[in-house]
Amino acid sequence: MVLALRAAGLFDGVSPTPAPRPIVLIDGDRIVSVQTGGEPPTGAQVIDLGTAWLMPGMIDAHQHLCFDASADPIAARDDTAMLTQMRRAAHSALLAGITTVRDLGDRGHGAVRLRAEGGELPTILAAGPPITTPRGHCWFLGGETHGADGVRAAVRDRAEHGADVIKVMVTGGEMTAGTYPHLAQFGPAEITAAVSEAHALGLPVTGHAHGAPGIRLAVESGMDSIEHCSFLTADGAEADTELIAMLAGSGTVVSATLGHLPMPGYEPPPRIQALLVKLSAVFLEMSTAGVDMICSSDAGINPAKPHGALAHSVSHFTELGGRHLDALRGVTSRAAEVCGVGDRKGRLAPGFDADIVALRADPLADVTALREVAAVFKAGRRI
Ligand SMILES: [Zn+2]
Repeated sequence: MVLALRAAGLFDGVSPTPAPRPIVLIDGDRIVSVQTGGEPPTGAQVIDLGTAWLMPGMIDAHQHLCFDASADPIAARDDTAMLTQMRRAAHSALLAGITTVRDLGDRGHGAVRLRAEGGELPTILAAGPPITTPRGHCWFLGGETHGADGVRAAVRDRAEHGADVIKVMVTGGEMTAGTYPHLAQFGPAEITAAVSEAHALGLPVTGHAHGAPGIRLAVESGMDSIEHCSFLTADGAEADTELIAMLAGSGTVVSATLGHLPMPGYEPPPRIQALLVKLSAVFLEMSTAGVDMICSSDAGINPAKPHGALAHSVSHFTELGGRHLDALRGVTSRAAEVCGVGDRKGRLAPGFDADIVALRADPLADVTALREVAAVFKAGRRI
């Protein structure tokens, strides 16, 4: 039987113009039509969502299901405990309206295994263990390698395990002692090898990069996207205007890992406050220069970033000066394209997957509406 969702308004994932009094018709797991006004066809099962607004299920292009958003997210766990944690994380994302999760780093291809087990889960796109240098950023996830040949073999290994994207740790990261976020870990030969091997296998490749040397390697090698892109330096953060111009003119998209839960009463120490001011300036310079950016969360890495926190990433994006519509597209249609699923996700349109969120208010009027989820439909089924 055809299912008809009625609501007060609709954001289709692309258009800045809201659609009033929509009726979305769903057959099985697909959307068959989106109409404004009128009546549903006779015989359809109607769910009237009253004053709610519909939008495409959100897509978080950067999560870590294996990190539990605790104060010690990398604590050792056996495989069974890790998969239990990953299922819990994925389900909480789904309840928050995130119907597609791109996992950008796990251990032992846990995300692919979780997907194979099935159940009430978001669509999971997986990277497997991030490719890193010996004792480099997130080495404890099992992705250490070196040399161009080693990197090529690592890319092929992930493809054979069913990965949807290749994740390379181009620079060090805050989470890993002994690594340096402002410096590149790999050289040009290794990064170029990663990109060419991934593209030869039909996979997108995304690079974790904080400092300018790593960002430059990612852009020059033709990576599809850059995670963080924070322009961290040894003692702060500083935009590189020439590199940002190159980034804006490239096909490389920035996945801006933003947002956190409100922390009432918490005052960051002065050093962090000063850094946040600099990071805001970097973001604004990229946004003003026309760098193509999407919103993502990096959920799981600390207690302020649980797996359903993507709505806060969207708010943060606009607070920093990003355009409202870019923020919304950055968790729907544009995120879907960057994740390689733009032909079936991120839009409410005929032929697209029936992954739909109902919100209590209009997201085109106020992005904080994304925090107020009234209902979630995954592949046509109400969660
Ligand atoms: Zn991450």
